[in-house]
Amino acid sequence: MTQHLPVTRATFDEVMVPNYAPAAFVPVRGAGSRLWDTEGREYIDFAGGIAVNALGHCHPAMVAALTEQAGKLWHLSNGFANEPAMELAKKLINNTFAEKVFFANSGAEANEAAFKLARKYAKDHYGPEKVEIVSTFNSFHGRTLFTVSVGGQEKYTKGYEPLPPAIKHVPYNDLEAMRAAISDKTCAVVIEPVQGEGGITPATAEYVKGLRELCDAHGALLIFDEVQSGMGRTGELYAYMGYGIAPDILSTAKALGGGFPIGAMLTTDKVAKSFTVGTHGSTYGGNPLACAVASAVFDIISSPEVLEGVKAKHARFKAGLEAIGRDFGVFKEVRGKGLLIGCELTADWKDKAKDFMTAAVAEGVLILQAGPNVVRLAPSLLIPDADIDAGLEAFRRGVAKLVRKAA
Ligand SMILES: *Cc1c(COP(=O)(O)O)cnc(C)c1O
Repeated sequence: MTQHLPVTRATFDEVMVPNYAPAAFVPVRGAGSRLWDTEGREYIDFAGGIAVNALGHCHPAMVAALTEQAGKLWHLSNGFANEPAMELAKKLINNTFAEKVFFANSGAEANEAAFKLARKYAKDHYGPEKVEIVSTFNSFHGRTLFTVSVGGQEKYTKGYEPLPPAIKHVPYNDLEAMRAAISDKTCAVVIEPVQGEGGITPATAEYVKGLRELCDAHGALLIFDEVQSGMGRTGELYAYMGYGIAPDILSTAKALGGGFPIGAMLTTDKVAKSFTVGTHGSTYGGNPLACAVASAVFDIISSPEVLEGVKAKHARFKAGLEAIGRDFGVFKEVRGKGLLIGCELTADWKDKAKDFMTAAVAEGVLILQAGPNVVRLAPSLLIPDADIDAGLEAFRRGVAKLVRKAA
């Protein structure tokens, strides 16, 4: 038996590097869209582990897949093929534009692979000058030095200079700015089809279509970072499917494992060829445990009923949130797709998203922020309507108290 030591929330500040500031309570158990803390207090979870717990907490299909695989085989190394990884790759390929898959352990690693592959592909096909990556302001692609540099938020690169070169940023949803930035030196253009961390901003259809044309005209690869928007989150299996075009490379993570760490980079045969034997790798990428869980998650999320359910639940959330916004004058706009929803605050509440999180927790509902000015919701894709209604009621009580206190 593992030896257990006494720990409380205060322990965190004693033993952890201080790069996070977690909530005042410590969750210890979850089931579906509910969580319980050390005091037995119950919470409705609209945060979903930041768009990760797509099937809620401890879904029986995930528990079964994990425990079954745990008794069979945990790890091999990339010196061997493993069945769960090959099965999951087949499922991803059969249901997307992709013809080849690379497995990693996180979103950042999936993007790192995507950016390295884009550089390598351009070298292989066009020569040494074609190295530039064009990205957008407010984007988020992970925290490794390369991915944080491609990301368009200075607050995340500050202090880490020198940064990798040949990365440009232009305003999001601005096709003319992209047209001016892209050239024959561009190896890749990368966007999130819905900017997540940057404030829940969906790309317009014209923008996405225009990016596809610009990339084709300049021999640049189009990369979609679907780490947050992917795997059913928007009501499509992947958000690109709602735009009628396909990227050349797509990164996926978060919901893919439903809470077990995994990431993947999807691409075409032609592009994949540039990752020849030995040119990239990962010790744990394609781990049998992770792939077995992700395979179970995939079967559930990819069903038409679940994807339709996400669209219906979006409407339910939107109506409830807009009513709260109207009644208290707190939201300028409720936006987003599927169960990735952002509420931009009005001028009176500018940059106070954190206060809304705190007010919600006090009433027993967990929400997120996306930057300082947007309240974000990313619940389980299976959240029951009764939990949506109860959570929105609790959130309404929290907002009412917050507004009363400020008056
Ligand atoms: C969360 C996120 C990442 C980073 O994923 P990690 O698993 O934290 O490395 C990258 N891109 C987007 C769009 C994300 O939302």
